[in-house]
Amino acid sequence: MPRTEHSGSPSVTRERSPPPSIEHVDTIAQAAAALPVDEVYNISLQNKERCHIYSMECYEQMYHRSIKDSDNFWRDIAMSTLRWLHPFTKVQGGDMHPEGDVSWFINGKLNVCDNCVDRWAEVAPERIAIIWEGDDPQHTQTITYKALLNRVCKFANMLKRLGVRRYDTVGIYMPMIPETIYAMLACARLGAIHSVVFAGFSAPNLRDRLIDAHCKIVITADQGIRGGKIIPLKNIMDEALKECPLVDTCVVFQHQGQAINWIEGRDVWGHEMLDGMRPYCPLEIMDSEDLLFMLYTSGSTGKPKGIAHSSAGYLLYTALTFKYVFDFHPGDIHACVADVGWITGHSYIVYGPLCNGATTVVFESVPMHPNPSRYWQLCERWRVSQFYTAPTAIRALMIHGTEWVENHDLSSLRVLGTVGEPINPEAWRWYYEVVGKSRCDIVDTYWQTETGGHMLTPLPGAIKCKPGSATRPFFGVEPVILDSKTGKPLHGNNVNGVLCFRRPWPGMMRTVYGDHERLLNVYLRPYPGYYFTGDGCVRDKDGYYWITGRVDDTINVSGHRLGSAEVEHALVQHKGCSEAAVVGYPHSVKGTGLFCFVTMNGDYEVHAGTTKELRDIVRKEIGPIATPDYILITPTLPKTRSGKIIRRLLRKIAASETDSLGDLSTLGEGGDQVVHTLIQEAKKLT
Ligand code: ATP
Ligand code: MG
Repeated sequence: MPRTEHSGSPSVTRERSPPPSIEHVDTIAQAAAALPVDEVYNISLQNKERCHIYSMECYEQMYHRSIKDSDNFWRDIAMSTLRWLHPFTKVQGGDMHPEGDVSWFINGKLNVCDNCVDRWAEVAPERIAIIWEGDDPQHTQTITYKALLNRVCKFANMLKRLGVRRYDTVGIYMPMIPETIYAMLACARLGAIHSVVFAGFSAPNLRDRLIDAHCKIVITADQGIRGGKIIPLKNIMDEALKECPLVDTCVVFQHQGQAINWIEGRDVWGHEMLDGMRPYCPLEIMDSEDLLFMLYTSGSTGKPKGIAHSSAGYLLYTALTFKYVFDFHPGDIHACVADVGWITGHSYIVYGPLCNGATTVVFESVPMHPNPSRYWQLCERWRVSQFYTAPTAIRALMIHGTEWVENHDLSSLRVLGTVGEPINPEAWRWYYEVVGKSRCDIVDTYWQTETGGHMLTPLPGAIKCKPGSATRPFFGVEPVILDSKTGKPLHGNNVNGVLCFRRPWPGMMRTVYGDHERLLNVYLRPYPGYYFTGDGCVRDKDGYYWITGRVDDTINVSGHRLGSAEVEHALVQHKGCSEAAVVGYPHSVKGTGLFCFVTMNGDYEVHAGTTKELRDIVRKEIGPIATPDYILITPTLPKTRSGKIIRRLLRKIAASETDSLGDLSTLGEGGDQVVHTLIQEAKKLT
């Protein structure tokens, strides 16, 4: 389809209905119904004809087929989307029953690297595959598909030379540079399983992940750099490897060029070795169900687990969601500014875009470096069409005002995505109005490391948006809301419970690496016959899905079940409040009381009445039952390295159980200090 510019005035319909009145907040469903203020945006009407899924009817027809005629739906898509070396004999095997034996495209043979690189190098060798922008915006590289094939082959030959074979696991602890993508694709070419560890993890975290994954070889760089700050990757790796007896080879890439320790016999310079490698490397013929990679979840709820994904099912699912959710068309420039250390990077920087022959941006820096217009500079410079980030980044940027966005030409943007947590309507509107100039589609994508790709999401051209709702299920996804106590499905609309999925989808995780029992216990056994997400969810009157937060984030105040998210949502209605995290703590009268941790905008001056204002807003928005017991205003909140608030720690702090804080390994930069300060402040308050 040809690429057309947007024309005409944006046709947006907004329908607002008043929030439910507070007296009626006495059941779970009503409490949750207080969450969304129904506001409907019908965005891409003006350019519908260019969207893949151009109307709600089109979506519904395809969705219906994906459920009712699932085998044929997926067979057709698998045949037309992927290049098979040998066709599969059966579309799907296994089900959600608690053996976890789900499989897709049985007996099919393919190679993921062939699908992402070779076939595009054949038909469009000069097309740009990767645009790399370094931490310093002066540093950039563009890599064509032809060049990508050349480099991935060399990389694969190097790994082979170093002893890597099919099914070996390879640890990747790298900055956001092109070599990281080559490493992943080279593993895929050889049938080795990669395990990328986010390059912000400390030595003990890295060590645990390398041991758990049975890595024998690791790939790293001398140093990383982010926001001008050096991260001594090789030093951290050295520290971790002291206790990883299995690892005998450490490949090092020179990125910053500063001196590093060297262990003769174990360490090799990647860039030097690559120079001597042949740029042709035959591919391994892999089975659909061979594992492609494992990835440890961010750990906001406990010990990280190695989520393992398949080759064909995962690739197909990321390719398809990429195409439809971002409404990808040839020529588009896609910028997902996540790190490849997270699933978002795996699926929507690497596999989804490359499997579609797209141009993908690999961005090394952070949104504030050197100033809060960095993202918008990036979009303007490369004429980005789809931009994908997290709500936490949007909120951080909002604080700095609109002037950082306004002086950039963002006319190339068409679809703006978010992922990672529910987006509060204020941030959604800012993204829509200030960044998207009220003409771009916003896709609030709900999914998990475990799901491989998007599960609930708007589709440009078809699904109207409501700020804060991930809207509708993607093709082949059958969400079910269960009553958390009885485990019974809640039928119809206006229901609230736990979110599960009834039928397997191709991108579903296949196992927890080395611990299949954990897959069964965490995801399949809690509600037999369903995949359990761990997230609470409302299906509203229009059949739209709203994630209300993790199930263990529900707080029972005097017998009323409140979602922490709804109280947080009320708090951020205060004009000075930028972020809020609400947890329960033992209360002698109410059973559980509400402890609110709040951060304020930089330009807001906290005064004697601020806490009262915050408290009043919650009373007004939800009702007196939700009156916060404590409000602690703090400069920062403890977060994982992927930017998610760790409520488990806040719960301990609120309950004064500070000698048993548990696993702190996932805390981000400076997190220990944040936690320490919060403990002191909470003590003063209580
Ligand atoms: P861990 O599983 O180790 O605790 P994690 O759940 O944070 O870590 P991810 O797989 O990266 O690791 O995140 C998935 C979770 O993020 C979802 O279960 C959900 O709670 C939240 N989430 C992701 N996207 C959205 C979204 N668009 N809206 C609401 N919540 C979201
Ligand atoms: Mg999770």
